[in-house]
Amino acid sequence: MTSTVTSASRVPQRRILRTAIPGPRSEELAARRRAAVAAGVGSSVPVYAVDADGGVIVDVDGNSLIDLGAGIAVTTVGASDPGVAAAVAEQAAHFTHTCFMVTPYEGYVAVAEKLNELTPGDHEKRTVLFNSGAEAVENAIKVARLATGREAVVAFDNAYHGRTNLTMALTAKTMPYKTGFGPFAPEVYRMPMSYPYRDPLGDDGVAAARRAIAQMETQIGADQLAAMIIEPIQGEGGFIVPAPGFLPTLVDWAREHGVVFIADEVQTGFARTGSWFACDDEGIVPDLITMAKGIAGGMPLAAVTGRAELLDAVHAGGLGGTYGGNPVACAAALAAIETMARADLAGRARAINAAATAKLRALADEVGVIGDIRGRGAMIAVEIVTPGTTDPDPALTKAIASAALAEGVVVLTCGTYGNVIRLLPPLVIGDDLLDEGIGVLADAVRAATR
Ligand SMILES: *Cc1c(COP(=O)(O)O)cnc(C)c1O
Repeated sequence: MTSTVTSASRVPQRRILRTAIPGPRSEELAARRRAAVAAGVGSSVPVYAVDADGGVIVDVDGNSLIDLGAGIAVTTVGASDPGVAAAVAEQAAHFTHTCFMVTPYEGYVAVAEKLNELTPGDHEKRTVLFNSGAEAVENAIKVARLATGREAVVAFDNAYHGRTNLTMALTAKTMPYKTGFGPFAPEVYRMPMSYPYRDPLGDDGVAAARRAIAQMETQIGADQLAAMIIEPIQGEGGFIVPAPGFLPTLVDWAREHGVVFIADEVQTGFARTGSWFACDDEGIVPDLITMAKGIAGGMPLAAVTGRAELLDAVHAGGLGGTYGGNPVACAAALAAIETMARADLAGRARAINAAATAKLRALADEVGVIGDIRGRGAMIAVEIVTPGTTDPDPALTKAIASAALAEGVVVLTCGTYGNVIRLLPPLVIGDDLLDEGIGVLADAVRAATR
């Protein structure tokens, strides 16, 4: 495996359990929270953090947990990368905000240059910055509609694109994301995805794309369609990797018909899948790409990068936002990207995949509940089913995640059926810690299935 940067970690890279999970101080904070914080915000882990570094999160009771979630694929470079921390402090000491729409600054321009360089394709590109993934998605759709003069937008089964009104419409799963929050934005159409484990078309990605194309042609009409948005590997939907040929076939059709192809790489971007972007692995070039999560070492930043003729079609003042491209977040992004390149975190993601999937495959041979192991780079999923069937078992999935947490390992779940355990470790996690974390998860699977 490639070397890691954990030898220099500020916080000891060890799993330490001092109390039950959650401990008494976390319980106290949970009580305060219930009286103060809106109940609609959930937390998958009931401990309160005081520190985080490399592959560990330290809680208020002194427990040190192995982090296999990276705050949902955000802290790719760790939660306190020294380069990011220094860049944030330095920028904050000068100015925290002027508003790029009032008094612009170099950091925003430098991030735009960097993203234009790193994203797939060597065409002329432009970038615009925002605060969240959902905001980037909303704006990509705005750009596509204005540039094409068309209204319809296609999203796919199992898609997750955010929680604002338009992105709720694009998101597939009703509970908890949509139920009760309608009406949703109009002119959004949903198409069948390629989901090799569950799709009768299996590994035939070209046939799966043709199925979606046939529906788009009959139900919408290519000339009515502004954009198609898709996660190259679906995140919240269950780390669904479409069959080979699916994405390239869609891209070719979109290009032929003037439909803007938007890759939502909010979760897959920035070394997570073993390349800068998941589109790179597929050999596809999106017209627009949305980014957030891993982009800025934990600081809130998001971006839309894409063809200059699309982004420059929008009139001045049509895109923006008070905080979009905040200078502190831009400084963090430049530092995080620098760490990813210097430490070859894309290579590290591939090494994590090799180590983790070998262990998980051995586990699958031992227990009957693992229906599928999939993913790319450090985006790895285990789908939990009733043995001998493909029936999802969300209760068991939850029990496994809770059992791992009780032993000090943070693992997240996801999936349209709530039956997927997803591993998204910070890419700076050390080999030993990763190994230990997966070992604890494996024991949790064994214990839950006994
Ligand atoms: C998380 C996510 C979003 C939404 O990002 P926020 O920053 O939470 O608004 C959009 N698309 C994908 C693929 C995501 O994973």
